[in-house]
Amino acid sequence: MDRMNWIELAYLIAALGFALSLKWMSQASTARRGVLAGEVGFGIAIVATLFWPGITGEGFILIAVAMLIGSAIGVPLGLLVPMTAMPQRIALSHAFGGLAAGLIGIAHFFLEREHFSKFDLGVIGIEIALGMLVFTGSLMAAGKLQEWLPQRPIVYPGQNIVNAAVLAGAVGLVIYQIYNPDQNWAVPAIAALGLLFGVFLIIPIGGADMPTVIALLNAYAGLSAAALGFVLDSKLLIVAGALDGASGLILAIIMCRAMNRSFSNVLFGAFGATDAVGEGAQEQGTYRSASVDEAADLMKIASSVVIVPGYGMAVAQAQHKVRELADALEKEGVDVRFAIHPVAGRMPGHMNVLLAEANVPYEQLLDMDEINSDFAQTDVVLVLGANDVVNPAARHDKSSPIFGMPILDVDKAQTIFVVKRSMRAGFAGIENELFFNEKTQMVFGDAKSVVAELTSEVTGQRDAIGL
Ligand code: NDP
Repeated sequence: MDRMNWIELAYLIAALGFALSLKWMSQASTARRGVLAGEVGFGIAIVATLFWPGITGEGFILIAVAMLIGSAIGVPLGLLVPMTAMPQRIALSHAFGGLAAGLIGIAHFFLEREHFSKFDLGVIGIEIALGMLVFTGSLMAAGKLQEWLPQRPIVYPGQNIVNAAVLAGAVGLVIYQIYNPDQNWAVPAIAALGLLFGVFLIIPIGGADMPTVIALLNAYAGLSAAALGFVLDSKLLIVAGALDGASGLILAIIMCRAMNRSFSNVLFGAFGATDAVGEGAQEQGTYRSASVDEAADLMKIASSVVIVPGYGMAVAQAQHKVRELADALEKEGVDVRFAIHPVAGRMPGHMNVLLAEANVPYEQLLDMDEINSDFAQTDVVLVLGANDVVNPAARHDKSSPIFGMPILDVDKAQTIFVVKRSMRAGFAGIENELFFNEKTQMVFGDAKSVVAELTSEVTGQRDAIGL
């Protein structure tokens, strides 16, 4: 085998690593292994590329500098960004990926254009436009999620015509440069229109929909990388780009389904941007509140407790305290399980990641479909910083913006304790009729402190009676 064969073999192993990574990441119990497989795949791909013939001493220096800069940005991002800011961190990664794809496309065009077929020219034009679109689109999405940019959709008359004109301009220029590759201005102009279109595409979408949009941008970034693979004749890039594109699209579909929304509704529906309040809000009535002691007393004598974590648990970083509470209750002979809604939190798998970090056993985590039929036989449900995902209005209130979204049927349990800081609305900006249910009691406070107090109450009482 010559050197190229070894490199191709290494790329094949890397591609296998990527595919296994995606497969394993689809299950909470194998997700860590999935991340490792992806890392090993990338490591093999990078090392194999360093053996590519033609890379000179100067090339190695440039690669080393690029790796240093990348690590200097990537390591602090990975270590310092809190879990609650993960969606915007992922958007930033996509932005860098899109920029890299776009810049490589531009450089490759100017270095190699005389050897390009018309097909290559067309593909590289699309690749540059997509890469640049992903760059600015992802930056806008990150800015909206971090609230550096206004969350509300920015709409103006004739917006669709302007957007369509920019898109048509970019497509026209791609066609133009296929027939006029010697024109130096066409490719930078395609890049500029791609950058502009990324901004125009995102500004009319509300901040609330950004996580789904990020999954879509991920799919575009994958397409862009796959197109680059065709131009560079790199099978690895084609495979990696296709996997990235397909998984981004599937993720966006899963998120849309979990929220009972369509793509067009996400892209043009401005969800979460309005002050929409469903009929539940008008009928709200009064709510009851309970002290931590009262909640602990009831949970301790219950035979089954289901904990429903939501975004508030992530904000409070209460996952470790929750694990301690679950352990304490189990010692009291209580059957404790966790109900996981697919879009609880701010990204798919958000709750699974946090609870896995706290070493909650996977078998205690039950998906919505597995647990929903059990709520009617559950003594106590502890809703911890969750709101929209337990709002019964989604089942019956046709005027509610979340109507049709599958929810956790916690209102069917015997007693429901809701831990949150106030009566404020959740992500969708609407009232929650669960809070006014006669079986519900609000326990106000920060999720982490309340859970810590619940645990000491449970364990304290236990010690006091000498068990
Ligand atoms: P919500 O955003 O509906 O509600 C979270 C609740 O947590 C708030 O009402 C807030 O109330 C409470 N909270 C915030 N901080 C704390 C704290 N420190 N301690 C205690 N409570 C706190 O969250 P859910 O998880 O129920 O729903 C997720 C929402 O996000 C859904 O609407 C979903 O569609 C949407 N979404 C999810 C995505 C995903 O992929 N997971 C992607 C896009 C959107 P208070 O201020 O009173 O404390």
